[in-house]
Amino acid sequence: MAGAQQAMTNSAMELESINPATGEVFARWAETRAEEILGLIARARAAQAGWGALRVEARCEYLARLRDALFARRDEMAQLIAREAGKPLVEALFQEILVSLDTADYFARRGPELLRPERIVHHLIAAKQISGSVQLEPYGVVAIISPWNYPLSIPLGQMIPALAAGNAVILKPSELTPAIGHAIGELMHEAGLPADVVQIVYGGGEIGRALTEGAPGAPRESFPDKVIFTGSVETGRRVAEACARQLIPSVLELGGKDAMIVLEDADIDIASSGAVWGAFTNCGQACLSVERLFVVSPEGDGAGSRAARFCERVIEKTGRLKMGAGTDASSDIGPLIRPRQMERIERQLADAVARGARILCGGRRRPELGPGFFEPTVVTGVTPEMLLMREETFGPVLPVISVRDAEEAVRLANDSEFGLAASIWTHPSDAGALRGRELAGRLRAGSVMVNDVASYYGLCEAPHGGRGASGWGRTHGRFGLAEMVQVKYVATDRLPRWPKAWWYGYNAELGAAAGRMIEMLFAPGRWWSMKKWRRRVAGAWGARRALPVMRRPRPL
Ligand code: NAD
Repeated sequence: MAGAQQAMTNSAMELESINPATGEVFARWAETRAEEILGLIARARAAQAGWGALRVEARCEYLARLRDALFARRDEMAQLIAREAGKPLVEALFQEILVSLDTADYFARRGPELLRPERIVHHLIAAKQISGSVQLEPYGVVAIISPWNYPLSIPLGQMIPALAAGNAVILKPSELTPAIGHAIGELMHEAGLPADVVQIVYGGGEIGRALTEGAPGAPRESFPDKVIFTGSVETGRRVAEACARQLIPSVLELGGKDAMIVLEDADIDIASSGAVWGAFTNCGQACLSVERLFVVSPEGDGAGSRAARFCERVIEKTGRLKMGAGTDASSDIGPLIRPRQMERIERQLADAVARGARILCGGRRRPELGPGFFEPTVVTGVTPEMLLMREETFGPVLPVISVRDAEEAVRLANDSEFGLAASIWTHPSDAGALRGRELAGRLRAGSVMVNDVASYYGLCEAPHGGRGASGWGRTHGRFGLAEMVQVKYVATDRLPRWPKAWWYGYNAELGAAAGRMIEMLFAPGRWWSMKKWRRRVAGAWGARRALPVMRRPRPL
């Protein structure tokens, strides 16, 4: 890929691939210069013309090859992810490799069917001669700006449907994971994609801005046609503003403050395991991390209460987690990607403790393990005004709040500007699942899992996206694919010689005929109401007499 090769040349500005477990720099990459962006977009536009003109089936064959290329390099890629992003190898395999393979497989197989034109059957009786269809067309050039926390599965989860739909893609991986971005470029190359259909650009905010903001006064074609952004709320707002200035549509996958509700009939053993995994997977650096846990405990959180028993299990299970480098296959919790993440975590914990919260376990840096290690931490006595409950933490911290009942849990869960995902834990039975689904309908979130947490992210049919400060639009599945296409409605009049009643030639007679037709179609009332049917029949009778008026040749 052209962009990837550029990254290997010498340049004044360099990105470093750093192993967050050790601080070791293991590769350097030339940053893309902002002035190069215009040329890259022009090349993408040229390449898209041919790519978009291919049959969907042909594009999907490339995706099958991409799947196979990733499969062939799965272990090497998992090692690279563990090394550059710090996540445990097992998580790299499940949450990055498996998810990406399944996405490629899904769109390779289902793409042709999902992108097929759809026949539209018109509801209006007066429009039955119009044959309509919806065609799904690519936007053109889609810019994908990615974070570092799922450096393979997030970009591929968006690039694959973008490519299936016929777009060219410019990917800007995070500046913290350039080696994985480069490897994505290589995979595309190995899949045989035509030159410039995918280009990778390297850099941080400046390159992101160059992609979305362009040069002052630059023409429309020098911008991408759509921007898919995944990252923080702060950057998302800037991207949304830049896109709005150019009237470029965007998808924003932003932060979360996901709630987990443990109802009074939930199995404490299952729910506590779910809480520990949901809060600490990827060292808590997941948009879908459990960041607020509400446990229903009518007797409060004193000794022997349900909340206390739940916390005991969580603490005990947390104590069994092994911290260590992601590349060590037996590590459960890796390092934070950069030590500076700790400052935010510590600030939130200090604020919580100052306001009366108690740290039940963890809460400390572990410098002897490496620069980015922070103990998985469980906190209780947390109240809604604490920073820990309001800001995204993005670290291994689990605040546990005891609530009287499900009502209070739902009210507190909805008390957040974020609305990404949530989970509800109920009795592991059909009745429990039913109750969970009912409560799910009352949560302000883009997705809710019952008796599981976050795992839906790995289901390629499941739409992913949030509300409120968590962003807009969807990725994954057919809703994610819908973000990669422009809808074109094409209609053919099958009886073009019939005069159109609504064309020119207006006069009082035509107005009266239109009125009778409206009466026939829409005179209101319950279906058994005689009055309604009398009016409709009268309208129909009138409309019959009005037909010659409507069908008469128009003077214009
Ligand atoms: P970030 O906002 O710092 O950076 C995200 C990307 O935007 C990076 O590639 C960065 O270089 C780029 N960028 C920075 N400034 C830019 C600008 N002005 N214009 C365009 N691009 C710019 O986020 P991060 O630290 O990489 O990722 C962590 C955040 O991402 C968390 O808030 C997390 O919740 C969120 N996230 C959300 C989802 C989701 O699906 N909703 C998934 C993963 C991560």
